Amino acid sequence: TTTTQKWNFGAGPAMIPRSVLERAQKGFLDYESTGVSLMELSHRSEAYEALNNKAQQQLRQLLNIPNNYKVIFMQGGGHTQFAAVVYNLIAWRHEQNKLSHIKGANIEKWTQIPVDYVVTGSWSAKAVEEARRLGANVRVVCDAKKDLGSYKGIPAESTWKSSDPEGELRKGDKAQGLTPAYLYYCDNETVNGVEFPFVPSMHDPDVPLVCDMSSNILSRPVDVSKFGVIYAGAQKNIGPAGVSVVIVREDLLHTGELNDGVMPVPLMLDYKTMAKNNSLYNTPPMFAIYMASLVFDWLLDPAAQRAQDGEKYYVKELVGVEAAVARNERKANKLYKALEESRFCRPVVTDKAVRSRMNVPFRISAARKDDPNAVANKAEDEAMEAAFVAQAEARGLLQLAGHRSVGGIRASIYNAMPEEGVDVLIEFLKEFEKQYSK
Ligand code: PLP
Repeated sequence: TTTTQKWNFGAGPAMIPRSVLERAQKGFLDYESTGVSLMELSHRSEAYEALNNKAQQQLRQLLNIPNNYKVIFMQGGGHTQFAAVVYNLIAWRHEQNKLSHIKGANIEKWTQIPVDYVVTGSWSAKAVEEARRLGANVRVVCDAKKDLGSYKGIPAESTWKSSDPEGELRKGDKAQGLTPAYLYYCDNETVNGVEFPFVPSMHDPDVPLVCDMSSNILSRPVDVSKFGVIYAGAQKNIGPAGVSVVIVREDLLHTGELNDGVMPVPLMLDYKTMAKNNSLYNTPPMFAIYMASLVFDWLLDPAAQRAQDGEKYYVKELVGVEAAVARNERKANKLYKALEESRFCRPVVTDKAVRSRMNVPFRISAARKDDPNAVANKAEDEAMEAAFVAQAEARGLLQLAGHRSVGGIRASIYNAMPEEGVDVLIEFLKEFEKQYSK
């Protein structure tokens, strides 16, 4: 019997390149000929410290991170960053306000300091929820669901309340001497399949941009200098769950010396403490960081990138994010095209400009697109979607069910998904369609 090749379309934890898993297996038993598992090394050992530094350097190289940014490894996933951002940047802004006291800034209470959020999907909405829970003065400057009826696009930046310098919001800030601590957005909404095709630029330049790149980091180049903080949970494009990378501009680290009156930053969430200790304040998630480093190696290795394409898909020698972005565009373009051409499938995100290259949500309906009289039937459509997921599974196409909050189908095609996997999915889509076209 032959085992069918598996293609994992899960949204996260997501596919990890096979060659990376094989290298990790070796390091698991005998890390770089130390005779012990990486799991047994002291995090204070030279070998681990070298790995810690290497992983940071690799990420710097891959994203071209300027020297005035710190790269730190933290635990607790994306959800922990929802809170860390609030604590760290309010502490920083509070300190700034105190320093500029003479200029008449309002310094009374940290709960007055505004924090601005752009909501384009369920992850940015969850970040808002957490900031509110912590007592922050949250202002939603753009709510795609309100503006568009559902999370299916990104309202033009010029319509955001933070964009107009003469608008009520910014005039009010100025009058009160209050500058928001940050402007927050999520670059790629994993559940809804909405991805930013631009970096926001119309807000007050004194307000640092904070970005959740959990599900699209390393999938395309990014100009880090435009951001105050970029963070990402690892379990999509970086490696296994358990570590998050945080890229933070140095001057946004509060000193902690002027912070009486502000809520204290819990040590494990404190960017300054983590940065000062080179992410070794406490025992780090060593295995996750090791795997991340192997994924970085894989991206930076021309031979591995060539192998990822195989003879059939190889175009030219590219490494790092350049290799990823080219491949990701080809993969996403052909999948959306197949969905457009299908009789039964509809991409959830109709605005082509903001369709995610990483997560492709779509619906299947027995009401054919080429039949103007067809009437959709919810139960029938859901049965058809369930059949799609089950048959795909039998073909080795795994985890295609949409997020439990929205249903439907979602194909996640992160960096580790080869172009061939997308072709196999498209082929299956066509076969599935034939069954129902009789
Ligand atoms: N942000 C984004 C964009 C995500 O996709 C996810 C999880 O899928 C999260 C945050 C939450 O991450 P975690 O489960 O690591 O807390």
